[in-house]
Amino acid sequence: MSIISVKNLIYKYNEDEEDEVTALNGLSFDVEEGEFIALIGSNGSGKSTLAKLLNGLKEPSSGTVTVDGIDTTDKPHIFDVRKTVGVVFQNPDNQMVASIIEDDIAFGPENLGVPPKEIDERVDWALACVGMSEHRKGTPHRLSGGQKQRIAIAGVLAIKPRVIVLDEATSMLDPRGKKEVMDVIEGIRERENMTVIMITHFPDEAARADRVIALDRGRIVLDENAHSALSDVERLRAYGLDAPLPARIAYELRRRGIALEGEIVTNSELKEAIWRLK
Ligand code: ADP
Ligand code: MG
Repeated sequence: MSIISVKNLIYKYNEDEEDEVTALNGLSFDVEEGEFIALIGSNGSGKSTLAKLLNGLKEPSSGTVTVDGIDTTDKPHIFDVRKTVGVVFQNPDNQMVASIIEDDIAFGPENLGVPPKEIDERVDWALACVGMSEHRKGTPHRLSGGQKQRIAIAGVLAIKPRVIVLDEATSMLDPRGKKEVMDVIEGIRERENMTVIMITHFPDEAARADRVIALDRGRIVLDENAHSALSDVERLRAYGLDAPLPARIAYELRRRGIALEGEIVTNSELKEAIWRLK
C-alpha cells in the first residue's frame, strides 16, 4: 500500500462564491514509503495548497487523499493522519510557539497525547537529528534563520511522522542556512528511511530528490525521475521553471553546436561531458 494516495483531487478556495479559485484541478499520484520527491511549480501553481491537503489541514472539494489507508476527511482518525504526515512551512518565526526550545519541540507530541516521558526522549532525539542538542534550554530568538528552521523541523520530527513535507522550508535562508537544512534532511532520510516531499523553488535542491512532480496551474505536468525531469531545460521553461545551472549551461553550449553527450544535471556530469568532447 502506498503511504499517500491522491485521486482526482480538486480543491477550490471560496467554493461557489464569486471569487472561487480552483487551486488544484484533478491531481492523481501515489507516494511510496521512503521516496524523496521534489514538488516544483511556479508561484500560484498549487504547491502549498497540496501540502495542506496532504495532512488534512484542508479537505478536498472532490476526490480523495488517503494517508496510510486513512481518508483525510475521516474526522475520528485525523490525529493518525497528522501523526503520519508532518509539514514544515516557509517561515520559521511563524512556527515557534514557545519561548524555550524544548517546550516548542514538545508542543506537537503533547497535542497528540504522547506520554511525558516519551516526549522527553523524542525532544532529545529530534534535537540530535537536526544537530541542535546544545540549544535545548535556550530561546529561539537568538538563533540564525537556518537554526530556527532546524528547530521547526525538529518540532515536526518529534511527532515521528513517516512523511515529512517541507514547504519551501529553505527559501528564507542564506546559502549556509539552506545547506544546513538540506544536510539535516538528507541525514534523517538515510537514518530513518523517512519519506520526504520537498517543495522548492530551487532547481539544485530538487536535483537531490529521486522523483520530481511539477505543478502548473493546479495540474500535474511532470511526474518522473528527477534526473531526466531536471535535464530537460526546454520542457521546464514551458512551465515557468528553471533547470539546475549545469543543465542550463549544457543547453546553451549545445545550442551553440557543442555536442555534449548524456543527461546533464550536476556539475560533475557537465565536467565529464566536457572532458569527453573530442
Ligand atoms: P503555490 O504554493 O504553488 O505558490 P498556492 O497553493 O499558494 O500556490 O496557491 C494556489 C492558488 O490558490 C493560487 O491561485 C492562489 O492565488 C490561490 N490561493 C491560495 N490561498 C488562497 C486563499 N486563502 N484564498 C483564495 N485563494 C487562494
Ligand atoms: Mg507556496
